[in-house]
Amino acid sequence: MKNFKFFLFFSFFSLLIHGQVEKKFSNLHLIGKSKYFLNKKLKYNLIPKVADSFDSMRIAALSDGIKIKIISSYRSFNDQKNIWNRKFLKNESIGLSLKENIKKITKYSTIPGTSRHHWGTDIDIVDGSYVIEGDVLVTEKFYGKGPYVKLREWLEKNAKRFGFYLVYTNDKKRTGFNYEPWHYSYAPISIGFLNSFLNLNLNKVITSNEVLGNSFLESNFIEFYMENYVLGINPALKVDNYLTNKNR
Ligand SMILES: [Zn+2]
Repeated sequence: MKNFKFFLFFSFFSLLIHGQVEKKFSNLHLIGKSKYFLNKKLKYNLIPKVADSFDSMRIAALSDGIKIKIISSYRSFNDQKNIWNRKFLKNESIGLSLKENIKKITKYSTIPGTSRHHWGTDIDIVDGSYVIEGDVLVTEKFYGKGPYVKLREWLEKNAKRFGFYLVYTNDKKRTGFNYEPWHYSYAPISIGFLNSFLNLNLNKVITSNEVLGNSFLESNFIEFYMENYVLGINPALKVDNYLTNKNR
């Protein structure tokens, strides 16, 4: 564990000395608008180092009888925009007000440009041994007699060993997005990305005309959203906590 913390610190430090973000990952990358993922055929649609660590975790899980399957990894701004707009139109058609609409979408979905899936460090995973019809990313499926109970328990115990941390934890004090037992992030890289992301001015990106309901997403809301949603995550994925860990 001590070694791993050192490894985490080193990864973060190497991000720092390379500037805000490593050169090939520009600010556009952080908001899902980089060509990096389009130009390269990347394994699992993840940053190579993340894909390698995922493979190690996948193989370890397999030897315990769990077949980790990725449902979603990298998503572009456009991908996220399509998800957002589809939900927006659906909610609008059932008569939700603008405020109710945004509140409902942001239970699980991020505003385009602010998804951690833009970074190539985050994954939504299930157990591929089970063939399931309909939505698989549903909390109930990870509990009780659900098909993904074994996967959840395995990840809670082992994912950290491979650098993966749950983002939207089941902690009642956590704000923002609902608990997502399926969403994991590769901390050694995503911590640096989050830090750089927080220094961006997102007003222009978020209020883009392409995003439905954008009139609601003004600067006060964005500030609230950044503090409660973007930062409403597992403390292990935040820089402050990370530096505190290091000093312990
Ligand atoms: Zn996710």
